[in-house]
Amino acid sequence: MSLRAVKGMKDILPDEISNWHRLENAFRNRVEGYGFREVRFPIVEPTALFVRSIGETTDIVEKEMYTFTDRGDKSLTLRPEGTASAVRAYVQHSVQAREPVTKWYYIGPMYRRERPAKGRYRQFYQAGIEVFGDPGPYVDAEVIDMVVGFIASLGISEVEVLVNSIGGPETREKYRDALLGYLTPYRTELCPDCQRRMDANPLRVLDCKVPRCAEIAAGAPSILKHLTDDDRAHFDGLQETLTILGTPYRVDGSLVRGLDYYSRTLFEVLGKGEGLGAQNALLGGGRYDQMVKSLDGPDTPAIGFAMGLERLLMAMSEAVTESHVDVFIVAAQAGVRGQATLLGRELRDAGLRVESDLRGGSLKSQLRRADKIDARIAMILGESEVEEGVVQLKDLKNKTQEQVPRADAAARIHALLSD
Ligand code: ATP
Ligand code: MG
Repeated sequence: MSLRAVKGMKDILPDEISNWHRLENAFRNRVEGYGFREVRFPIVEPTALFVRSIGETTDIVEKEMYTFTDRGDKSLTLRPEGTASAVRAYVQHSVQAREPVTKWYYIGPMYRRERPAKGRYRQFYQAGIEVFGDPGPYVDAEVIDMVVGFIASLGISEVEVLVNSIGGPETREKYRDALLGYLTPYRTELCPDCQRRMDANPLRVLDCKVPRCAEIAAGAPSILKHLTDDDRAHFDGLQETLTILGTPYRVDGSLVRGLDYYSRTLFEVLGKGEGLGAQNALLGGGRYDQMVKSLDGPDTPAIGFAMGLERLLMAMSEAVTESHVDVFIVAAQAGVRGQATLLGRELRDAGLRVESDLRGGSLKSQLRRADKIDARIAMILGESEVEEGVVQLKDLKNKTQEQVPRADAAARIHALLSD
């Protein structure tokens, strides 16, 4: 049996990588423009971090984590998301003592043992941000506007922006009773997980993907009617600011997301174009004002979101396959391969991306290779060129050829490329 990648985990081969780079660079540029700085944390964390922050009754903790024992007796887990690690790092390094507001972003792989499907993998990539220390609601509107603008800049035009508020602990305490009152007559119709959730955390029932549970959840009373005055004012402030910014959005009172730690603002951006299939959530985010404290940090409000990069790539219309080479050096005879190698180094020092086939081969096969990898220029070097101190430049796009002094080659190539 030949070895294959783990089910639900994909290789990203070099042919696909230019789209990834484009997406990641665009994300970096966008968020750095808002003052976010990159943070990198370990891929493996103590299991307790996720159990305590994401919550015991969530799908992630109940069914999806890759948890293992570290030879000795420590339970470790491959990170299923980034926020828990961000909070752990924020607390561990006492970041609040150095800055009143902290803005971090991250990009990296996450691990969840879900049923693989189109747009759903067991290793997938997220790009996300976290803001610590600002209670909102202006910053809530700003990050939503930032990410909506980012998605539009990728050429993804058909999206729906959903916002909701689930209030703070006081609101949720009141709502819990109303929700239980509604759910109790349906108890036996709910899936076994939801029956347990009714006791542990009834809000979770609203996020269940089992069809009958979703049907029942659709009729549940809205949490928006139960917001305290402060929570209501916060949510109004968010909406007013989104309106000032001209960010399109729709209030969806049934939006609760799969992690326990959220409070007040919640949002999701759904892609509506084809290509995404059933997995149409491009990103999810929200405020988690109690989490830093619950992980033994200072009482610090926070908000963040995470986007699925595979799903964004699926929604991006034009795939770009950029050439990774400017110049392909062709050595016409075996005797000039040393000079060709030296020339390659000189051109790279002049800022060009250079490839060659150092195994040699016929002139024809080398030119075919230059074409195949989409090099813009083929530079041909033979014995007579070496003697005369010149090179032949073949512009493979415009189908022209010229001879230039070797010393001028780099400058001439730069000129041809910028045409
Ligand atoms: P879903 O409802 O699709 O399961 P989620 O609510 O579990 O999503 P979050 O935990 O909020 O998702 O993660 C944020 C984003 O990460 C999602 O909107 C999605 O784009 C992406 N994502 C989540 N799980 C996966 C996965 N298994 N494979 C690919 N992308 C994923
Ligand atoms: Mg999920």
